[in-house]
Amino acid sequence: SSRALQPRMAVRSASAVTQILTKLQKDCATPLPILRHVADAMANDMRAGLAFDGGSDLKMILSYVDSLRTGVDFVRFGGDERDEKGLFYALDLRGTNFRVLRVQLGGQERRVIATESEQVPIPQELMCATSEELFDFIASGLAKFVEKKGGEFCLLPGRKRELGFTFSFPVKQTSIDSGILINWTKGFAVSGTPGRDVVACLNEAMRRQGLDMQVSALVNDAVGTLAGARYWDDDVMVAVILGTGTNACYVERTDAIPKMAASNSQSGTTIVNTEWGAFSTGLPLTEFDEEMDAESINPGEQIFEKTISGMYLGEIVRRVLLRMTETGSLFGSSIPEKLQTPFSLRTPHICSMHQERSSDLEAVGSVLYNEAGVDSDTEAREIVLEVCDTIVKRGGRLAGAGIVGILEKMEEDTKGRIFGKRTVVAMDGGLYENYPEYRKYLQDAVMELLGPELSEKVVMEHSKDGSGIGAALLAAANSKYRHST
Ligand code: BGC
Ligand code: MG
Repeated sequence: SSRALQPRMAVRSASAVTQILTKLQKDCATPLPILRHVADAMANDMRAGLAFDGGSDLKMILSYVDSLRTGVDFVRFGGDERDEKGLFYALDLRGTNFRVLRVQLGGQERRVIATESEQVPIPQELMCATSEELFDFIASGLAKFVEKKGGEFCLLPGRKRELGFTFSFPVKQTSIDSGILINWTKGFAVSGTPGRDVVACLNEAMRRQGLDMQVSALVNDAVGTLAGARYWDDDVMVAVILGTGTNACYVERTDAIPKMAASNSQSGTTIVNTEWGAFSTGLPLTEFDEEMDAESINPGEQIFEKTISGMYLGEIVRRVLLRMTETGSLFGSSIPEKLQTPFSLRTPHICSMHQERSSDLEAVGSVLYNEAGVDSDTEAREIVLEVCDTIVKRGGRLAGAGIVGILEKMEEDTKGRIFGKRTVVAMDGGLYENYPEYRKYLQDAVMELLGPELSEKVVMEHSKDGSGIGAALLAAANSKYRHST
């Protein structure tokens, strides 16, 4: 195929392209009143989901994690030294990979003595395999990791290995160590798992692998992040994941949860997993979002996630560029197959284009050539950057509005609980970590909504990989050996 630029570029219809861009920017706009509306709707939907199961898009899942103590308190209130000492494992099943981790806890003096972890990519084909195939793959990765044990790590005598299992999908918890998968998200379509207890699935696979280990805690990644961050800082009240998928959880008062049966939480609080990826009220959506949703494996579901999270931002941009090519010949008259292929352009690609600072936008050109198969001139590259910025700005600002919605819900229930003191929001996930423009838009929205005075009280802190340690700590706190002699 010819790479000659001139003849193809000549056919671009600047007006058609501009029209699409202008409409996109209008449809994606997030001025303060829209942000305000989204934050309020988030708070309302949270309340409705706390009232009864099925009361709202937000599932508001009870995590069974109610004692969140800092490291020192673990010892002070735990009483029994064995509670926080010893070797614990964690397994973190995320969007595109899973992580295995071991943590040696050393009691009051030396809280976390050593940690060691490994990351294993999940082969694409396993995302639509059978439940047994997926869990066998995970259990065998875990077994290999367990075998390669280093010298610093040792199991206390007479104890079985214990695991904190971080499972980053909507699970209806039935106890701290069991829960039923409601539905897959993030492109997973593994058959046979929805409706089943995922701990049982893992246990069976571990047995097939001959791995002797028991699951002491099942936690969502947002919950693990909150627990992990809270171990070091008791001002942490909320945790937000912005990665392939998205979610948020927070510390709720048990008496603000009508659907919760009598609670024996001594703290009077418990972590609630909002599953905010399913939020959908009042979002500024475009025809591109609607088409992407309709063609997705979970149409009508996870609308907030599809608007703000890493799995989808690149795909929305691709759809806009494809339309600009089809109706306005943005890249000339040919429409390369790559540009027509769903998910060919990924969020890391649009992020790297967004970092471009040179005047001819050469780096943008090479990403477009490599990932979308198109030749571009400077003018086309400028338009591409505007599209990226529009989609990323909307995503970051809506995420910020969601966070403010949670904080305001907490504050409205108990005046001064959030804004009367320092409050920390623990943030994690690749999108938040690696995309500076997204992060900036998110922070701007929080600032605009709260105003300078209140936003000073709210600290957003990156809690890198906190969910792994968090899960290991929760396994320790819920150790099967806690009350044995
Ligand atoms: C899942 C959540 C998870 C989030 C971040 C979403 O798709 O539904 O359970 O916490 O992704 O990993
Ligand atoms: Mg404090």
